[in-house]
Amino acid sequence: PTLRNPGQWCRSFCHFIGQCLIKDFEARPSVTHLLEHPFIKQAHGKDVALRQQLAALVQEQQEAGCKTKTKHERINTRKTLIIESCPDDDLVNLEFLDEETIISHLQKRYDELQVYTYVGDILIALNPFQNLSIYSPQFSKLYHGVKRTDNPPHIFATADAAYRGMVTFCKDQCIIISGESGAGKTESAHLIVQHLTFLGKANNRTLREKILQVNPLVEAFGNACTAINDNSSRFGKYLEMKFTPTGVVIGAKISEYLLEKSRVIKQATGEKNFHIFYYIYAGLYHEHKLKTYSLPDKTPPRYIDSQHRKVMQDIVSSKLYKEQFDAIQECFRNIGFTEEEVNSVYRILSAILNTGNIEFAAITSQHQTDKSEVPNSEALENAASLLSIGPEELQEALTSQCVVTRGETIIRTNTVDKAADVRDAMSKALYGRLFSWIVNRINSLLQPDMNICAAESGMNVGILDIFGFENFKKNSFEQLCINIANEQIQFYFNQHIFALEQMEYQSEGVDASLVEYEDNRPILDMFLQKPMGLLSLMDEESRFPQATDQTLVDKFEDNLRCKYFWIPKRVELCFGIQHYAGKVLYNVNGFLEKNRDTLPADIVLVLRTSENKLLQQLFSSPLTKTGNLATSRARVTAASRSLPPQLGSGRTKVDTMEMMRHPEETTNMRRQTVASYFRYSLMDLLSKMVVGQPHFVRCIKPNDDRQALRFCKERVMVQLRYTGILETVNIRRQGYSHRILFEEFVSRYYYLAFRAHEMPETSKENAVAILERAKLEDWVLGTTKVFLKYYHVEQLNLLLREV
Ligand code: ATP
Ligand code: MG
Repeated sequence: PTLRNPGQWCRSFCHFIGQCLIKDFEARPSVTHLLEHPFIKQAHGKDVALRQQLAALVQEQQEAGCKTKTKHERINTRKTLIIESCPDDDLVNLEFLDEETIISHLQKRYDELQVYTYVGDILIALNPFQNLSIYSPQFSKLYHGVKRTDNPPHIFATADAAYRGMVTFCKDQCIIISGESGAGKTESAHLIVQHLTFLGKANNRTLREKILQVNPLVEAFGNACTAINDNSSRFGKYLEMKFTPTGVVIGAKISEYLLEKSRVIKQATGEKNFHIFYYIYAGLYHEHKLKTYSLPDKTPPRYIDSQHRKVMQDIVSSKLYKEQFDAIQECFRNIGFTEEEVNSVYRILSAILNTGNIEFAAITSQHQTDKSEVPNSEALENAASLLSIGPEELQEALTSQCVVTRGETIIRTNTVDKAADVRDAMSKALYGRLFSWIVNRINSLLQPDMNICAAESGMNVGILDIFGFENFKKNSFEQLCINIANEQIQFYFNQHIFALEQMEYQSEGVDASLVEYEDNRPILDMFLQKPMGLLSLMDEESRFPQATDQTLVDKFEDNLRCKYFWIPKRVELCFGIQHYAGKVLYNVNGFLEKNRDTLPADIVLVLRTSENKLLQQLFSSPLTKTGNLATSRARVTAASRSLPPQLGSGRTKVDTMEMMRHPEETTNMRRQTVASYFRYSLMDLLSKMVVGQPHFVRCIKPNDDRQALRFCKERVMVQLRYTGILETVNIRRQGYSHRILFEEFVSRYYYLAFRAHEMPETSKENAVAILERAKLEDWVLGTTKVFLKYYHVEQLNLLLREV
């Protein structure tokens, strides 16, 4: 080889050796021997990712019983390969701390394919946009239960820290993954689940496999191709992995937030519908079942081809879609869905696609001009048959509505446009409820077995993966919700990293320099405050039948007086917001309709007559998104109490009664809008997060072209700025991220300085005795607490394990 790129060459070579080892271990030369080859030595000296890869191979070989070296020699080889403690791994150790240094440091690492870097206990993950071979089971072993500084930074190390935190302190943990769209949150979430299932040593393999298949299954229904990301999450997901007190995984639970239902009926230019529609098309085509599900086989249905007019062949012949369909079938089967349930899911999906093809024509007669009918009944009949309802009843519900006024029932006919709106509202409701049902069903199938572990003694690690911050050419209501959610996550990060820490210095009389940071609370208040926040104003306007998008903009302009909001002069029906992550211009076209999200009662009634069991379930009663109504309500109330004062402000006082209902359904109660449901969802999410010990992963997108090894300084700089990385480095360097009450500290660590039977008094003096005995440096004492740096806790825990 020409060796123009020794790193690249060696990586391929190592991959090859690795494959040989796995396939035919005994017959191959030892890896450690190969490591001494000058080419490898030269390359691996520079290339951290390669070093990691080699280390994993060595470990694998050791475990397979390689006899070429003594134990001592083997350990030494491992030590030379994996840097024991590389100061470069943590930005906190940098000598000069300015943006330029941090950026060039990250760039250097990225060029060496070292995509992870620590900022104290926070992990920065740069998207590699290529498959790295650092996520195999060997790597899981490498990162299991070792000191963090033993290995280069890795997403497994973060998962490991959360797992260890949970087992050691018997406390729930949560891993919050943030970053803009396409930065790598979902991939990171998968890797975390992978490592946690490895650590959780599920007693039965089936459970492990089931847990690993949860993400791919829900993502088939909740992810889609957007202008930014081919696999963009269009919903927020909080996955809780449940463990016994000894750390054995026993189940999982997902909570879903704010699925972007509008995608079902329409997609922006260059974007697609949810993946599952394409998967079933290709899958059912290959199984010769398009006819069974009444799916058109000449031209794709309007919902999955609203603008592209693609030929059917492109969709059905896609090998990728077909493979994904098979994978999803496998997930359904493994997780435990019955065949009947899966068929019902496909029937409903096909019904949605047929519904989208129903068209309306105006009936104009002498007396009536606002009546519509369905001229071509094929799609209507297909949809009705798939939903097991009568076609006439469906047509009636789409083209007319019952209105009760002064005790009298009047039938009003729908115009063509109104009928099309009702049709689309029905499709959105069907998809949204189907999605919630799948999530609920997964939860019941993965519920911990009460015989193994009493529910209350179990603990969990939650992983938050939401849709990332978005700024398209045209931003609508959906982007507003997505960006507010991200605004809230950033606020939560700020609270934990800056505000709470600094408040405690002051109240405990600890002299630590304060770090200034960009507080996004005013922006959040502008959105969430009642009654004058943007969401409340939108709700108010949504209640006026005469309101228009223009009156909404006027209302915003009249009432939102803050520097984060403006109305651009030359663009109509738009408003701008200065988000923490940048300026976004929103187009209010359709905001009110989307917020009202009305589903006429006539549609609900007709769907309730269905003979399909699943459909009956979906529409029998308003589903609660959060499961059991009573427990959910209790949790939200409890969370409002336990939130820090900043979080427990006006925005958290939600009207829980109002929120528990399904957003789009019309009943006698005051209608619930998407905005009010959204506010509740945010609150519910926070209520889950605040009970756990947080761990943060900040995903960064190194370029907008999704290219490997391309580091665009400007883009990275912007992301580092708005996520407050420089300030985070500062506070991690100067600050004390762990603050533990003296009593708690002494009872947790007294083994380090006292004998087990001594039962020392839980006093300040004894806390000092432990700290001195453990030979820790740089800690300080407050009036009631010990203040520790982020690395102290790891040191203490390691000592504890040695005792
Ligand atoms: P969104 O907010 O739109 O859901 P996201 O932050 O979840 O975006 P991902 O879907 O996780 O982004 O990542 C986008 C793409 O980047 C992936 O499809 C994959 O191609 C690539 N990618 C991300 N992380 C990794 C990784 N660790 N290794 C290899 N490729 C990755
Ligand atoms: Mg995602």
